[in-house]
Amino acid sequence: MVDASPGASQDAPKRSARLVLIGPPGAGKGTLAENLCSFSFDHISSGEIFRGHVRNQTSLGQRLEKSLADGQLVSDDLTLETMKKWFWSRKPNQGFLLDGFPRTLPQARAFDEWLESRSLKLDAVIHLYLEEDAVVERIAHRRVCPKDGRVYHLLYNPPAKEGICDDCGTELIQRPDDREPIIRERLRIYRQKTEPVLAYYREQGILLTQDSDRHAAELAKTVQQKLQPFLAIR
Ligand code: AMP
Repeated sequence: MVDASPGASQDAPKRSARLVLIGPPGAGKGTLAENLCSFSFDHISSGEIFRGHVRNQTSLGQRLEKSLADGQLVSDDLTLETMKKWFWSRKPNQGFLLDGFPRTLPQARAFDEWLESRSLKLDAVIHLYLEEDAVVERIAHRRVCPKDGRVYHLLYNPPAKEGICDDCGTELIQRPDDREPIIRERLRIYRQKTEPVLAYYREQGILLTQDSDRHAAELAKTVQQKLQPFLAIR
């Protein structure tokens, strides 16, 4: 078993774990993914893949733009078209921590089929749980780097220099879909479309649920510990 604890050597071989991260907007998925990545996983965010297409005004980006701005889910067909490209561009044994996909039952079923066609399975699905009011309060404090997509929280995970990205020095912004009315809408969609995905993975025995109302470093440590049994059985 790989030592994936904080402080483990950065030179340790990366473990090819296949993980999905599910939670409402603002539950800290991006920050958790970054903190876990610094131990031993690759992080892929479907929202960031989509925003990258919009930033670069690709033909996919032009089709994705409106749903993103309105806080609506991108259609399953367009999501699967975009994510399939990502999936088939990877080597089968490459691990991932997938943040934001799958987000509906049809996406989860299609993803299982892609994995099966490569004789692969998910190791675990991390479900981050947070009360709605806490989500809204948290998102009010969220800032992102428009250049590289890195996410900060002004209280729990602030940049070293106020308002500036640690990695590239760009001025941080508030995402247009992080405004309160849009957040409430995203939460409604989450309950309606994404919560059934949790039951789907619970039935497969691979769901790990964690209350995310804690400091980013402590959350990452707790999740890392809870993941060990899932990773050990493969
Ligand atoms: P996120 O950064 O995960 O909050 O995603 C931002 C936006 O991207 C969402 O509000 C959706 O419009 C879109 N999006 C990301 N992932 C998916 C997905 N799996 N299915 C549909 N839409 C998605």
